[in-house]
Amino acid sequence: MPGTEYFGDEERKEVMDVLESGMLFRYNHDDQRNDHWKAREFEELFQNYTGAKHAHAVSSGSAAVACMMAAAGIGHGDEVICTPFTFIAPIEAVLFAGAIPVFTEVDETLNLSAASIEAAITPRTKAVLLVHMCGAAADLDGIKAVCDKHNIKLLEDAGQALGAFYKGKHVGLFGEAGAVSFDFFKITTAGEGGVCFTNDTDKYEIMGQFSDHGHSHVGDNRGMEPHPIMGFNYRLGELNAAVAVAQMRKLEMIREQNKKNKAILKERLRKEVPFITFRCLPDEEGDSATFLNFFMETPELALKASKEVQGVAYWYTNMYHFINQWDHLKALKSPYKLAIHDYEHRQDWNTIELPKSQNIIGRLLSIGIRATWTEEEINAFADQLISQLKKVVA
Ligand SMILES: *Cc1c(COP(=O)(O)O)cnc(C)c1O
Repeated sequence: MPGTEYFGDEERKEVMDVLESGMLFRYNHDDQRNDHWKAREFEELFQNYTGAKHAHAVSSGSAAVACMMAAAGIGHGDEVICTPFTFIAPIEAVLFAGAIPVFTEVDETLNLSAASIEAAITPRTKAVLLVHMCGAAADLDGIKAVCDKHNIKLLEDAGQALGAFYKGKHVGLFGEAGAVSFDFFKITTAGEGGVCFTNDTDKYEIMGQFSDHGHSHVGDNRGMEPHPIMGFNYRLGELNAAVAVAQMRKLEMIREQNKKNKAILKERLRKEVPFITFRCLPDEEGDSATFLNFFMETPELALKASKEVQGVAYWYTNMYHFINQWDHLKALKSPYKLAIHDYEHRQDWNTIELPKSQNIIGRLLSIGIRATWTEEEINAFADQLISQLKKVVA
């Protein structure tokens, strides 16, 4: 978990600024806050890093996805093409907006492919919610072309992909809007937090309003602000924003460390483990390098490796990241009625077949890259990894 590996005086200083002024709220109270505007500062740093015209910080990555969907006008009965390999947050965001997730296949990029998206389009498709999994971009050229051809919106959940670029441009800026997470497990963290971002000024305004009960944020009297739309509370507090400010300043350093360390590990595996293949990266240079992902020859070998090899993650059987484990979703167990409960064109998720994704995710193993590794530590880890992998296939 790179972000947390680098907690230090910088984070403490930013947090103390907030505690000393006592102003924990991100809006207004100009005379009490000693000029500390941590959420705003975070947003500016985020804009500078990603090149986004607008960034709006919110309370979580999930909230950022919800605000992005609101800004794009995704709602009741709209079909949204989704991936079966993701942290489940974007699927929840689609459902709770009253929209309908439609699952299709991933390929060796670990992300949706342009061809599978095109095959899933129906007359009711409104958007693709593209997730850039494990720190690296999907095939954005291909996917963007399909979206443009069929006139559907591209929304990017870059929850795991802050610091990931595609052909020099940060992910999340290829469609109408993007979202990232600053939760505890991401490349940089605020404990909890997220950012939704866009180059479209109208959409940015909706994001800000939607995340704060529809407040317009115009003028300096919060109590008298107009409410152009309804919204909810997805606000980021100043304490979390303070941590995010310090972490944002470390992002590029962390990314560079990740890339260096991943390259050493990958090179050793490439040379010494002939029976694995690597994840396909549409832009290897743009990788944020939080994970090294590779495939075993069969799902059986990957399952065996997941039990016998130390330090590898097997997403296929964990409870959060692959459709097979989402029994609550398949049973549509919501505390309240959703649009999907009445939706006549519904995919049956109990019988849905995604053979390509089953095979790819079934063979996939991942290693979380540590930014603080020394070269000796990487080589010691590689020694052990390589010998244990060889035993699995022996
Ligand atoms: C982590 C994550 C989220 C949600 O972020 P939170 O800050 O935990 O709410 C959304 N999408 C993806 C792909 C994620 O990995």
